[in-house]
Amino acid sequence: RAKQSNRGASQYFSSEMGADARERFNLLKGLRAGFEEKRLFVAYQPQICLATGRPLAFEALLRWRTEEGKFVPPDQFIPIAEQSGLIVPIGEFVLRTALQQLRRLHDQGHTEIRMAVNISLAQFRHAGFMDQLHKALADTGIAGQSLELEITESMAMEDVSVVQDVLEAIHATGVSVAIDDFGTGFSSLSQLRRLSVERLKIDRAFVQEAQNSAASATIAQMVVNLGCSLGLRVVAEGIETEAQRQHLLALGCHEGQGWLFAKAMPANEMHDWLVQHSA
Ligand code: C2E
Ligand code: MG
Ligand code: MG
Ligand code: MG
Repeated sequence: RAKQSNRGASQYFSSEMGADARERFNLLKGLRAGFEEKRLFVAYQPQICLATGRPLAFEALLRWRTEEGKFVPPDQFIPIAEQSGLIVPIGEFVLRTALQQLRRLHDQGHTEIRMAVNISLAQFRHAGFMDQLHKALADTGIAGQSLELEITESMAMEDVSVVQDVLEAIHATGVSVAIDDFGTGFSSLSQLRRLSVERLKIDRAFVQEAQNSAASATIAQMVVNLGCSLGLRVVAEGIETEAQRQHLLALGCHEGQGWLFAKAMPANEMHDWLVQHSA
């Protein structure tokens, strides 16, 4: 009897209390296997000049296609990769892959195009990060000026001193930095001033709600004003309609990214897309 109720208890713990942990564990196991078996790949979304439509850059966005052919969204697997440390090798893979693709674009004549790569705090905290960056640039022959690293506002605020130190080292390479998802992370003006960055990316929530919500419109306007007064370029992400493009342009926003222009595309489509959109 005692044995039976013990078994009952352990079943209770594994089935009820561990459900969340077990799901994360399975996701991590799948991600690790997916990475080893090369089922992770990178897609590229254009960033354009809002006034002229001219292509300026691509943002590298990680994709995971499972063995069953299902796509797991990055918002689900990136946090697990971050918690487990797996983001360090995966992030290096994204950086190298994106720079290799940029090399091809430059060789095809698109020499002005830049590449933006998302970086996690765990990568900034990893002692080998700057070596990875130097090597990836050297191996592909890409100048630092053609690369931008995107860090989220909340990551920058979580550990301002580590981020500050790494930013200094990054800038010595000519690589620029953008603050991503800006407007969601509660940073203070003084903290922002301590971080030397080149771009602010307005979070897509404010871009998309700006027409219907006065509060969102105000936040979008404030981010644009803040960026301009600090001498930064301001990018609006998640532009889906022409009305949104015009609104952001009227607010003084410089650059845009979103489904109105293009969704993230496979590497082999970038050249044709650029040819079609550079005229
Ligand atoms: P993010 O860096 O803010 O990237 C922009 C996200 O908005 C992408 O989602 C993109 O597909 C989506 N998006 C772009 N335009 C539109 C639009 O017009 N409408 C809508 N509804 N969505 C749009 P995605 O690819 O699912 O990535 C989600 C997040 O995952 C990224 O947000 C980034 O934080 C993270 N992520 C993606 N790849 C990497 C990576 O290689 N490393 C790291 N550390 N994080 C990554
Ligand atoms: Mg980004
Ligand atoms: Mg963003
Ligand atoms: Mg985001």
